Amino acid sequence: MSKRVLVTGGAGFLGSHLCEALLARGQEVLCVDNFFTGRRANIAHLLGHPRFELLRHDVTFPLYVEVDEIYNLACPASPRHYQHDPVQTTKTSVIGAINMLGLAKRTKARILQASTSEVYGDPEVHPQVEGYWGRVNPIGPRSCYDEGKRCAETLFFDYRRQHGLSIKVMRIFNTYGPRMDVDDGRVVSNFVLQALRGEDITLYGEGAQTRSFCYVDDLVAAMIALMATDDAVTGPINVGNPHELSIRDLAERVIALTGSQSRLIHRPMPADDPRQRRPDITQAKAALGWAPSTALDEGLSRTIAYFRELLAKEARTA
Ligand code: NAD
Ligand code: UDP
Ligand code: UDP
Repeated sequence: MSKRVLVTGGAGFLGSHLCEALLARGQEVLCVDNFFTGRRANIAHLLGHPRFELLRHDVTFPLYVEVDEIYNLACPASPRHYQHDPVQTTKTSVIGAINMLGLAKRTKARILQASTSEVYGDPEVHPQVEGYWGRVNPIGPRSCYDEGKRCAETLFFDYRRQHGLSIKVMRIFNTYGPRMDVDDGRVVSNFVLQALRGEDITLYGEGAQTRSFCYVDDLVAAMIALMATDDAVTGPINVGNPHELSIRDLAERVIALTGSQSRLIHRPMPADDPRQRRPDITQAKAALGWAPSTALDEGLSRTIAYFRELLAKEARTA
């Protein structure tokens, strides 16, 4: 029997890949999105599918539908986008979580929250383990996102304790791949586009800060695996690729793989930018039998191919 699965934020980068993967597994997918950062183009190829339905809706308002499972991804994810309207960002995480938890409570649906490594803030424990409580500035420019996501986690665990919901909280580390937004200012999309356009590559600060990048297909596989675990598995559970590198090294990989002539230049470091980040995925390996399998060069090559095609399409229509 196919399940009725709600994906909030389904027209976004991760959400569109998740919708695709769920359809491929025979599920019925209801994609809910207000198109703040998501795009129709991300799901255009799914619109004619008999088991796919799209609903334009803002999760800060109640939603009454009948579903078996909920993946709650709605929330702008890049600093440029979540800082554009920080009050709406907090509302989306907090009120959005309340509404989706209320929906899960009424329909007895299992619900998964797309949380984030940002709940650890600028961490003093490295690599980050789930038991670490984090170091987040509550009043800075990143706080609307970090604290909104932290409060959403609180709500998930309180709905479990108070109402017995079946919850899954996944802390997602930096993820990249095709359909990243061109304008969202994230490092992988910025560097690939700069390299392909022959523009200077912008390292914020010295580029010595580190991140660990997970390819989107690996991430989606972990999401589906977590949803399929039994009720005792709630998380929070880290999902990401533990391969850590400096932002400067990332720029050099992108230059090598694109064959670009771009130069590296420096820009000021943004406020509260975490200096290092790498997931400890011991729990994901044990609970999900999962580990990422896409090497950085392979994932970057696929991402570069996507952006190359996008730029070629733009040039043809210009
Ligand atoms: P994205 O911006 O591409 O997708 C977010 C989607 O949510 C968009 O389609 C947007 O239109 C939609 N949305 C925003 N506010 C909404 C609202 N109020 N009502 C309905 N829809 C709304 O970002 P993404 O990278 O695909 O991220 C998806 C989720 O995963 C987010 O919750 C994000 O916080 C989380 N996450 C992503 C990463 C990453 O590296 N990509 C890392 C950690 C966590
Ligand atoms: N809610 C929703 N869809 C539903 C059920 C509830 O959007 O199918 C919203 C509802 O508007 C409420 C929120 O979820 O504000 C929390 O629901 P809950 O039942 O926990 O709280 P209550 O309704 O008692 O305030
Ligand atoms: N970054 C950079 N140049 C860019 C965009 C980002 O050096 O053009 C850096 C940024 O300062 C951060 C890292 O790359 O240290 C990852 O940034 P992103 O916004 O992708 O994700 P997050 O900071 O949320 O992990």
